[in-house]
Amino acid sequence: MTFHTHSFSDWPFADPPNTVSYSTALVARQGYPVLRVSHDWEGDWQFLDATTERPGECVLLCMGCVFERDPSLREVASLPIGWSAARPAPGADWQCWEMEPWDDEEESSSSC
Ligand SMILES: [Zn+2]
Repeated sequence: MTFHTHSFSDWPFADPPNTVSYSTALVARQGYPVLRVSHDWEGDWQFLDATTERPGECVLLCMGCVFERDPSLREVASLPIGWSAARPAPGADWQCWEMEPWDDEEESSSSC
């Protein structure tokens, strides 16, 4: 990740803004809104467009850039580890739920 700066004035997440998070090519390159957020059991954040159950190509984005693009993500900044949140559209209310702990027998759909 090359050095760059962000322009927001406050930062709602506990992780620093330059933390690398996982996103999809649609969010990173085509400006799709983030509709699904996961704070996975390893502490990584995922910001996904929710257009598919299988995110496909995984793109690394720093959290600062994700938040800069969509400050409404502050609403999920306190999402605990092991929780996911989803919303039907930008600006809609988030629904949060606790994810199942890693289950190796499950096909690994989150192998992002
Ligand atoms: Zn950034």
